[in-house]
Amino acid sequence: MTTPHYHATVNMPGYLPEGDIAIFGTAEGAWLYLFDELERDWEAAADGSDESDDVNARYLEVDTAMHNHDTDLPGTVYLEGPTATHLGWAYSVSECSFKDCTETADWDIE
Ligand SMILES: [Zn+2]
Repeated sequence: MTTPHYHATVNMPGYLPEGDIAIFGTAEGAWLYLFDELERDWEAAADGSDESDDVNARYLEVDTAMHNHDTDLPGTVYLEGPTATHLGWAYSVSECSFKDCTETADWDIE
């Protein structure tokens, strides 16, 4: 079975995703999930910390980029890191098939 589906991931570029890979039957579903993830990350970052001066500016930029992205298509939106040494975060939607996917076992495809 090779039903296409989409992975939604959040990772630091060059590193494995944080937490589970979320799986959706449509790219739009995956993007909607990432909108929520971004919102949650934004709130957490804004509640934080010493480096909050530009938090809102950085998140607003990536939020805009994400909403401007065509939700029918896979893609990646990058959040700039808070410091020069922090690589930031990549919010990605990628297409996948069951054939070479080991992530589907725990997920209901909708
Ligand atoms: Zn997959």
